[in-house]
Amino acid sequence: MTETTAEQTETFAPPEQFAADANVKADEYERAEADYLSFWAEQSRELVDWNEDFGEVLDWTNPPFAKWFVGGKLNVAFNCLDRHVIAGNGDRVAINFEGEPGDSRSFTYAQLLAEVSKTANTLTELGVKAGDRVAIYLPMIPEAIISMLACARLGAAHSVVFGGFSSDALRSRIIDAEARVVITADGSYRRTKPTSLKPAVDEALSHGDTPVEHVLVVKRTGQDIDWVDGRDQWWEQSVGQASDQHECEFFDSENPLFILYTSGTTGKPKGILHTTGGYLTQVLYSMKAVFDAKPETDVFWCTADVGWVTGHSYVTYGPLAAGMTQVVYEGTPDTPHQGRWWEIVEKYKVTTLYAAPTAIRTCMKWGEEVPGKYDLTSLRLLGSVGEPINPEAWRWYHRVIGGERCPIVDTWWQTETGAHMIAPLPGVLSTKPGSSQRPIPGISVDVVDDSGENPAGPEGGLLVIRRPWPSMLRGIWKDPERFKETYWSRFEDTYFAGDGARRDDDGDIWFLGRVDDVMNVSGHRLSTAEIESSLVAHPKVTEAAVVGAADETSGQAVVAFVIIANGVEDSPETAEELRQHVGKDIGPIAKPKKVHIVTDLPKTRSGKIMRRLLKDVAENREVGNTMTLADSSVMETIEKSVAKS
Ligand code: ATP
Ligand code: MG
Repeated sequence: MTETTAEQTETFAPPEQFAADANVKADEYERAEADYLSFWAEQSRELVDWNEDFGEVLDWTNPPFAKWFVGGKLNVAFNCLDRHVIAGNGDRVAINFEGEPGDSRSFTYAQLLAEVSKTANTLTELGVKAGDRVAIYLPMIPEAIISMLACARLGAAHSVVFGGFSSDALRSRIIDAEARVVITADGSYRRTKPTSLKPAVDEALSHGDTPVEHVLVVKRTGQDIDWVDGRDQWWEQSVGQASDQHECEFFDSENPLFILYTSGTTGKPKGILHTTGGYLTQVLYSMKAVFDAKPETDVFWCTADVGWVTGHSYVTYGPLAAGMTQVVYEGTPDTPHQGRWWEIVEKYKVTTLYAAPTAIRTCMKWGEEVPGKYDLTSLRLLGSVGEPINPEAWRWYHRVIGGERCPIVDTWWQTETGAHMIAPLPGVLSTKPGSSQRPIPGISVDVVDDSGENPAGPEGGLLVIRRPWPSMLRGIWKDPERFKETYWSRFEDTYFAGDGARRDDDGDIWFLGRVDDVMNVSGHRLSTAEIESSLVAHPKVTEAAVVGAADETSGQAVVAFVIIANGVEDSPETAEELRQHVGKDIGPIAKPKKVHIVTDLPKTRSGKIMRRLLKDVAENREVGNTMTLADSSVMETIEKSVAKS
């Protein structure tokens, strides 16, 4: 038995009090399964304020195009703001904003409603109507959330583009969505330096081939920027002068809420479309069931940027619709020092922290004495998202950050799924380091073999989703064929997620990596996640990425790229030691043919490793599309270290 398998039996029961107070109890699984449509209808009526009730729960007469909560009418912004104010919670803090340079601002629900109303009035002035699209290209500042809610209030769809993306990425997204207005800022703070945003917007619009009529500019850094009279307006002026009263309309349950591009980890990003009623229902249900949301007492902090789906569902819509107090932080975890996150947890008494494994591994690398300096006892629940979390990082997160008292919810989901799909219910299940465990109540997933007809064996197979779900994507924007082809053509009436997974003897799900990345070495299927997890469990390694490279003798060969810990020697001996470690830990077949020691790995802005670029390097090809890469110089550095080794 390998070390990795032995660890799978280790579980952590929820603390007694946590289990007793949990919003959702064990019977929920069975109740939901008995009649999943009634279950979702019941959740929706309980959690969402419908202005007009829906009739049919699901219309699936034209698969894969679903309609949920047919005929119902709602306003998502009303659900995030007005209803809390009407219920007497207008004085509750909605957002505690922490800027990277140390500035902070707070908004109560009543204040946030006023800001969103002013912005909605401004957008109306600029000609935005229900059914239009607005592009949002902002840093992580409250105006990003305010802009999204203002669009939702008007029934216009937003398309948020990461502030770190290039003008080309912005331009193609503006054109694809036919956006009429762009909301941006002069710049933002990243690693203490002001970086500029507005010039990228000017560049994106300079070709004259976009439908953009107006650009609304937030002043964040005060840096000098170019100005196009008649097109550009300062947010402070326009929004500042607008009325803070705005009567909202109610829209159909299937009215578009947003278009958002996937992270681009496996290829060209896809423009995913989400609508309102089903999306809000499942996002709210996951707040209640997975995050065990207690709006009166919790302080929620999701560290994701609003530029990816985690920021949409668990910064903007989920926490606010649930009436939570949350923290929003603009910058990086190590500015101005490596304890910044923990300082913020202490300052705001954060109870629920939601972060990506890559960030957790980075904090591990900095050493536990860093978080050790802060009071983290307010925390009661931790979450992980974005990639498989290796057991080593899970245990560190549990012990050092969670003080062994906080359950960890490892949440598997995608831009396409809109909300959590697979995650433990923290008050019900005993959690297992490295496993996302089970679909949430109301969701049905399977792990199947290549034919799709049989359950996969112990070596794993393909993850599929059996039934429509409320927050499912409604399509790829303007491309119904790609929608069908990408997700629904492999198996009939079944959603193909593109991820490899396996179930253990308890039926719990472990993610193995992208199906595209699964390696086939001399006829053995090997998972990237398993080998990476073994590598990072070695004390000399802090980060690892594994790819299968074409090989004459074995079909494919395992090639590993590793970042070593501070003070470890970059030598052929270290590389050899790591090869032997994997061979011993998992088996000789998994032993990497090559281990390249590198100083950085190619990651998306949301922190995912782009293995396809490493595969290009391993196979001596020119590297492919790097548009969504966080730092474009990384690939050159890697090619240099590889050439040298
Ligand atoms: P693209 O689809 O453009 O290649 P992407 O798949 O990285 O990019 P996202 O929608 O941001 O875009 O990411 C979803 C993917 O992230 C999932 O399919 C899965 O591979 C991975 N993922 C997310 N959460 C988890 C998790 N908890 N465990 C394992 N993998 C996860
Ligand atoms: Mg994907």
